[in-house]
Amino acid sequence: MAGSKYAYVRNFELPDPLLPGTFLVCRLDGHSFHRFSDEHGFSKPNDERALRVMDAAAQSVMEEYKDILLSFGESDEFSFLLRKSTQLYNRRHAKILTTLTSYFTSCYVFHWPKHFPDTPLRYPPSFDGRIVQYPSAREVRDYFAWRQVDTHINNLYNTTFWALVQQGGQSTTQAHATLKGTFSKQKHEILFSRFGINYNALPEQFKKGSVLVREIVQGKRDKKDSSRDTMAISLVHCDIIGDAFWDARPHLLV
Ligand code: ATP
Ligand code: ATP
Ligand code: MG
Ligand code: MG
Ligand code: MG
Ligand code: MG
Repeated sequence: MAGSKYAYVRNFELPDPLLPGTFLVCRLDGHSFHRFSDEHGFSKPNDERALRVMDAAAQSVMEEYKDILLSFGESDEFSFLLRKSTQLYNRRHAKILTTLTSYFTSCYVFHWPKHFPDTPLRYPPSFDGRIVQYPSAREVRDYFAWRQVDTHINNLYNTTFWALVQQGGQSTTQAHATLKGTFSKQKHEILFSRFGINYNALPEQFKKGSVLVREIVQGKRDKKDSSRDTMAISLVHCDIIGDAFWDARPHLLV
């Protein structure tokens, strides 16, 4: 098709390919969710309804984009791992990033009323996003380990902080001061001795975050009636730092 005399402006749109053969990790994070969580009455430190909305949005994203093999969520963020051979949108950076971010955001809004039936959205939430390219499985594993360690550190801090405020009667300023410079061991001690909370007994969902993983479901294997393997997405709250998770799922890192 012949273009108009204006069509030359198209040449100012530059290609933005992601490197071939690299693992792509896309991380989304809620914009100003400190405020969003206040305005929508999230319970502290962990509102389970809010976590369920995030998990549901991520699940929808994985149903739509089959090259996402794994995702990990905590608080207001989710990270998505795309297989290194993905040809999604010809590996165009902006196209992948903007469609994933916008699809996640609209799924968040779409799923909201199921989990917050009595809390209408007061304003439209938004998410920022980035894509990082990793050359090998080592960095991918370390990336997810980094996010899960972060989940643990934040959750220990937040759990202790909110115990000091909600049960200890401290102001938020006082609670910050109490925790300033404390080590992990001291936070466990404050929780246990002052509030009778055994941190290790808290739900895995809060300590480990949410892992959505595409699992291979084996088809029937008997001679008469065999069927193909299929894939299913499962939600677990397990360790992804050690080897066990990855050794059981070699398909994630090929
Ligand atoms: P930014 O726009 O820079 O990301 P932010 O306010 O979103 O700013 P984050 O560091 O992303 O800051 O932290 C997200 C905040 O959202 C948490 O500190 C917490 O206050 C709140 N939040 C998110 N999810 C939950 C949840 N499930 N339960 C309670 N609070 C939550
Ligand atoms: P891509 O994902 O590549 O953008 P697309 O299907 O969105 O694919 P576009 O070139 O963006 O393709 O075209 C948008 C299409 O959406 C139009 O061709 C038309 O079919 C439909 N569309 C958009 N807005 C309207 C509208 N207001 N009324 C009727 N059809 C519309
Ligand atoms: Mg941020
Ligand atoms: Mg945020
Ligand atoms: Mg965040
Ligand atoms: Mg279009």
